[in-house]
Amino acid sequence: MKRLFVSAEAWPYVKTGGLGDMAHALPEALAKNGPITRVLPLYASIDRQKHGIEPLGRSLRFCFGNREWEVSLFSAEGNGADTLFLYHPLLCDRPHPYGPPGGDYEDNDLRFSLFCHAVAAYAKAQKTELVHLNDWHTALAAPLLKRDYPAAKVVYTIHNLAYQGIFPIETAGRCGIEPAWVEMETMEFYGQVNWMKGGIAFADAVTTVSPAYAAEIQTPAYGCGLDGFLRKHAGKLHGILNGIDTRFFNPAADPALPYRYTPKSLANKRRVKKRFLTEAGLNDDRRPLFVFIGRLVEQKGADLLAEALDALLKRPLNLAVLGEGEARYQEAFAARNGLPGFRFFAGYDEALSHRLYAASDFLLMPSRFEPCGLNQMIAMRYGAVPVVNPVGGLADTVHPVGAQRCGEGIRMESPDATSLIQSVDTALALYGRSRRYNAVRRFDMACDFSIERCARAYETLYGSLT
Ligand code: ADP
Repeated sequence: MKRLFVSAEAWPYVKTGGLGDMAHALPEALAKNGPITRVLPLYASIDRQKHGIEPLGRSLRFCFGNREWEVSLFSAEGNGADTLFLYHPLLCDRPHPYGPPGGDYEDNDLRFSLFCHAVAAYAKAQKTELVHLNDWHTALAAPLLKRDYPAAKVVYTIHNLAYQGIFPIETAGRCGIEPAWVEMETMEFYGQVNWMKGGIAFADAVTTVSPAYAAEIQTPAYGCGLDGFLRKHAGKLHGILNGIDTRFFNPAADPALPYRYTPKSLANKRRVKKRFLTEAGLNDDRRPLFVFIGRLVEQKGADLLAEALDALLKRPLNLAVLGEGEARYQEAFAARNGLPGFRFFAGYDEALSHRLYAASDFLLMPSRFEPCGLNQMIAMRYGAVPVVNPVGGLADTVHPVGAQRCGEGIRMESPDATSLIQSVDTALALYGRSRRYNAVRRFDMACDFSIERCARAYETLYGSLT
């Protein structure tokens, strides 16, 4: 069966968050059962030489928005599955995939409609049987495929309902969106065009990245205005828990770590911690190390952490924050950087994130909503106990200590700073009972959060459609 996996990002070519991880790992796991090709834009930031990206000497030609377009094709092998790259200067020749940090390019509607038209044209030319689309950037390919190549089955995955791709109605023409697709039952949304709605309306199956999030997004509290629409399409909506690449995130073989370890050699984890603390100028290694790694936005509870910070720093702990995002949180953390027990690392740094997972005793993840969340799974794999607000994928993967369900951690009672501080106190008490604490982290390290488990569920879904 010919299958395409379409995404606006995939590690190691380009990654801004969890979508990049999944678009790397899921096709790799699926490729073990049959061919599947990743499809990505060939952004200027992608190093063609390093990744062995070669021109195919072919292009796709198509028309929309009263213009003719030509998109060149490139490909690369490796990273577990073949990758097809689509190149057009308008889509690709920018310093960032979506826009400068915290912002969007003004013509993202046109850029990603070009991507979607090219995907549909390619799928038709190749007689592709299944096209798996991800998030709003790829959603317009769903109606295009249904119009131009209805033989293809379409799976559409929502990684984060908060980003829907909503544009003024006037943009529909230039994006080649037909008037018939801009109705209440399709892409119309309060007088605007909503790409996410198009993906949901036209796909044969819609998935999201955890069972709990699949249920939550059908409620007004988490539905971002689409809960009613999702309830209407509930019959084809599936919650499939994401997974991590357990070879890439592997403390026994991670090249980013100064010492490697398994559940049986946790003394080495302690050495990673000690080395990190010394280098970061955090000296008391008897204190547990808490880390926060992620986008500094409200979704991730960056505001709760900033609010709780002074109280947390009065406790016997070390805390390291790695992230970039909204200036107000970045400033709050930067202002306290260097206080005893606290370090803030501004920016995005893959290798440092691995060292932090390995050095840490606890991961803080006070997210207000969390479609799946990969950090908590990575943390557990590295023997750090997660402290979470149990929503979405965090509710599916972090159960109370003693529940004997994969995994175990500490659950906040509510998404507020007081509850975060209380949970940190619970973590400190657990840390004080070292046998119990070690038993929890060994239990967590043995849990199966692998992408292979997720891939098996997708194979079943694909099989039910074709
Ligand atoms: P998101 O909502 O941002 O996609 P996920 O939990 O699904 O969140 O995935 C986040 C991924 O990005 C994880 O692999 C995490 O380790 C990584 N990550 C997030 N912020 C940073 C950062 N500042 N530096 C390095 N890695 C980061």
